[in-house]
Amino acid sequence: MAANAEPQQTQPAKHSEVGHKSLLQSDALYQYILETSVYPREPESMKELREITAKHPWNLMTTSADEGQFLNMLLKLINAKNTMEIGVYTGYSLLATALALPDDGKILAMDINRENFEIGLPVIQKAGLAHKIDFREGPALPLLDQLVQDEKNHGTYDFIFVDADKDNYVNYHKRLIDLVKVGGLIGYDNTLWNGSVVAPADAPLRKYVRYYRDFVLELNKALAVDPRIEICMLPVGDGITLCRRVS
Ligand code: SAM
Ligand code: CA
Repeated sequence: MAANAEPQQTQPAKHSEVGHKSLLQSDALYQYILETSVYPREPESMKELREITAKHPWNLMTTSADEGQFLNMLLKLINAKNTMEIGVYTGYSLLATALALPDDGKILAMDINRENFEIGLPVIQKAGLAHKIDFREGPALPLLDQLVQDEKNHGTYDFIFVDADKDNYVNYHKRLIDLVKVGGLIGYDNTLWNGSVVAPADAPLRKYVRYYRDFVLELNKALAVDPRIEICMLPVGDGITLCRRVS
């Protein structure tokens, strides 16, 4: 698949409530979570952005509302101030982050596609959060190389959310481990990859799922043996692996 790590979709957004966005065995259970504890507490700006994004043809890429709620709470729990996001799309996880940070908090946000970021930007501006965001258009890897070159950036990020091209996650990790603080977190998204990480080799998988599966498997193996981090793989959304830097 081309630049976007997750697929284009032309059908209406069925996934936005059930199915793809959850690996829970029952759609009804996932719906229960959304209706009982997520939607009633979702900030107005996030609801607005979620509804705008649902109309976009690539809406399958967006972070789900329950994962947005999780990220928002996690960032508050760790008192995050300086953060990074790789893979913005229309900005749902970016907004969840911006809402959680203090007024002088910062998010260095990267995406190869500015157009999609600009779909969500008016909502972020209306919520008075745009000053926290430094958006850079372009591939993340060269930008990370630049950041790593300057030692002043080492160990400066409280939280880094990685939700972009899965075939580069291992490359991102090599750089991010220097940039995140000791005690800080990196969150790698989609680490259960549609549940395909346990599919038999000959299982009928959608093309993009098959293509990226080996990269996700490789990442999961690498994270599991990396002594510089503690990890926790959570079945939220499509799976998120939290990595706490310990050395
Ligand atoms: N976090 C987003 C949200 O909450 O809606 C979803 C991100 S979407 C799954 C993946 C994004 O990664 C796309 O917007 C795509 O343009 C971006 N992307 C793909 N390859 C990239 C790269 N090499 N560098 C930076 N961004 C990239
Ligand atoms: Ca994702």
